[in-house]
Amino acid sequence: MTLTDAIKRTVTEKLQQSSTIAKDEVLESVENIGGGCISDAYLCTSSNGKQIFVKTCESSPKQTLDEVVEMFGSEAKGLKALDDTHTIRVPTPYVYGALDNDNYGFLAMEYISLGSKYGASGVQRKLGEQLADLHLAKGPGQFGFECDNTIGSTPQVNTWCPDWIEFLRRRLAYQFDLASSRYPQLNKPAQQLLDKLDTYFEGLDIRPSLNHGDLWSGNWAVDDNDNPVILDPAPFWGHSEADLGIMKVFGGFDSNFYDAYHAKIPKEPGYQKRVNIYALYHTVNHLNMFGSSYLSSSMSLLSQILQ
Ligand code: ADP
Repeated sequence: MTLTDAIKRTVTEKLQQSSTIAKDEVLESVENIGGGCISDAYLCTSSNGKQIFVKTCESSPKQTLDEVVEMFGSEAKGLKALDDTHTIRVPTPYVYGALDNDNYGFLAMEYISLGSKYGASGVQRKLGEQLADLHLAKGPGQFGFECDNTIGSTPQVNTWCPDWIEFLRRRLAYQFDLASSRYPQLNKPAQQLLDKLDTYFEGLDIRPSLNHGDLWSGNWAVDDNDNPVILDPAPFWGHSEADLGIMKVFGGFDSNFYDAYHAKIPKEPGYQKRVNIYALYHTVNHLNMFGSSYLSSSMSLLSQILQ
């Protein structure tokens, strides 16, 4: 069976079972619209004209089919958690599972027609306001998430923890451990940072905010009404400043974004160093995923933080 036929069959069946489409409605066309970093993307259109976005990912010796399905399951849970805050547009997740060709996992979600964010009117300001609203949404009172997920291709453990600094220490240590044998020059400053992590948070009362988790410029877009849309999250309940770390690493956010965001969530003392700590998590993750081109930025962030 071709991949297209497998998508038509399995995804139609699951969408019917979940009442996302009618019992007599089927996916009629499946158009490959490219791929992201991890998966291939398809625009599917049903016999009633409903458009559905489907991501697929093939299993491999590195990632079994069960693991692919689990990855899409955690993405679906992440999208739902973000959607449930009603603060910023995310595609509503529909169904996920394994295609019946036995070696692909899939995730089906709302298709959003995306426009260019460059030149869209006021969109950075709206993103700033809406991201702050997301971070202010009422949470579970603990740090973590209902399931583990992945940051890029690296596992991200989200076990609930009542203490943010403890949660963050574990999160950083996970990346530092992965890097330690290939990049031993990181070990000493990394340990110094873990040892004095508390000192960067003195006087703060941190409440859990739902973070997108991977909000680099490629993971947000605008819809046809110039509203921001966020995609491909790796969410967790954590310190609101953590999302600003990954945004700093790759840039693409202007003063309209920051002014609007900080009008709702003002900067607190020590902000700059903490944002660098949150950026470091992502540069070391990139070091682990893509290699030594991220070593100098990781070392430089560490020395700025420890100064
Ligand atoms: P990956 O996990 O492989 O990185 P993404 O979720 O980032 O894949 O999706 C890849 C691209 O597909 C995005 O950059 C975006 O352009 C497009 N896209 C993602 N989700 C949707 C959606 N729900 N509707 C329309 N286009 C989407």
